[in-house]
Amino acid sequence: MVKSGLLESVLESNSCTGCGLCESALDSNPVRMQMSGNGFLRPVIIKPLTRDDEDKLASFCPGVVVSHQKTEGQFHPIWGPLVETRVGHSCDEEIRRVGSSGGVLSGLLLHLLESGSVDFVAQIAVSIPDPLANELQISRTRADVLRAAGSRYAPSAPLKDIRSILDGEETGAFVGKPCDVVALRQLARVDERVGKRFRYFISFMCAGVPSQNGTYEVLKQLDMTKDEVGSFRYRGNGWPGNVRAVSKSGDVREMDYSKSWGTILNRFLQFRCKICPDGTGEFADIVCADAWYGKDGYPDFSDRDGRSLILIRTDVGRQLMERATQAGALCSDAISVGEIESMQPYQSERKRFALARLIGAQLAFGHAPRVRRLGLVKASQSSNMFSLLKNCVGTYRRAKNEN
Ligand SMILES: Cc1cc2nc3c(=O)[nH]c(=O)nc-3n(C[C@H](O)[C@H](O)[C@H](O)COP(=O)(O)OP(=O)(O)OC[C@H]3O[C@@H](n4cnc5c(N)ncnc54)[C@H](O)[C@@H]3O)c2cc1C
Repeated sequence: MVKSGLLESVLESNSCTGCGLCESALDSNPVRMQMSGNGFLRPVIIKPLTRDDEDKLASFCPGVVVSHQKTEGQFHPIWGPLVETRVGHSCDEEIRRVGSSGGVLSGLLLHLLESGSVDFVAQIAVSIPDPLANELQISRTRADVLRAAGSRYAPSAPLKDIRSILDGEETGAFVGKPCDVVALRQLARVDERVGKRFRYFISFMCAGVPSQNGTYEVLKQLDMTKDEVGSFRYRGNGWPGNVRAVSKSGDVREMDYSKSWGTILNRFLQFRCKICPDGTGEFADIVCADAWYGKDGYPDFSDRDGRSLILIRTDVGRQLMERATQAGALCSDAISVGEIESMQPYQSERKRFALARLIGAQLAFGHAPRVRRLGLVKASQSSNMFSLLKNCVGTYRRAKNEN
């Protein structure tokens, strides 16, 4: 591997999110994304970055910086910029069923395409040749959007293949993990093509990306080898729905969400996700999440009709939501900000501890993403000193064990 200062620091400190934007946005083409030995998508440096590449990388890479410039609506220290808060689902029963929670994201995307508001949607879907891999899909039809619906709890680098979109003439919507949206929004500040090509930025709350090895472990427990897999879904067909692996010969194996996410996949999260300051998609126009019903103070994962939490963060998002509702695509009700906490207690905890964890990572590696204007100090103040210290030291130790 060729040496490069900033990108090497990002990689060595495990600050890389694996978004892939360095492959498409750096002008001299110095990197290629590849699956690493431990099952994460990472840039491999094939020639030294130029000075211009380094400057550009410093402005957008979420392993270097995560910074709001201006935000709209009320800024909540835990939940970020909020214009409106709602719960709802797609009014189309098929979309609601195949979607991860209520199919709101897919409902919004289909509305954008069918109303002619965009030419395309850039989103992650299962790879055509490999049923266990994710790849960027440029969706233009209902069938495309349905094919991409549902969460895929494995590495995805949706921004690695957007060079041709940036160089093209069409306008579209982008869907990605919060860190993907951070990267693209930050690039928009230095590359005007981003704002011209992408009109809508859509995201979902994210607790972290599990390594590809997490999926292999799920398969192992289902007693199926990766070569036998014909198709594989992590969720959907109900809320939250089961993992469903179908072998090439037609054998079906399933595992419920509590077991797949709760006992396997969440043990394989990448380090960067453990120090993430933005699990709730603060840079998107609209963010969806599971609007879990609570049971004894914890989310209850028993199967129900899908329901999404919807955070509208910008005026662009508010107008889109209004148009999609008027067109009959989405059904939703307003909720108070106070109700979000019981649906997403884990995300609340992550934001409260993000600053302490980032400090732990900085102390261990000498590099961590610089975070600006996300309200981390205020969010930390709602925790006690002992818990903050415990998180800082815990992250420091984990970081030292990573390398
Ligand atoms: C890695 C990961 C972690 C998550 N963590 C949480 C969490 O902590 N709390 C929570 O409430 N929700 C989490 N979700 C999101 C949640 O599962 C639903 O996506 C969300 O509730 C929206 O549901 P929906 O029915 O509206 O979306 P759908 O209509 O099902 O649409 C899902 C969209 O997500 C995109 N997508 C799926 N997988 C990926 C991926 N790996 N990378 C990029 N884009 C992808 C698809 O292209 C599609 O556009 C996570 C999702 C992922 C992929």
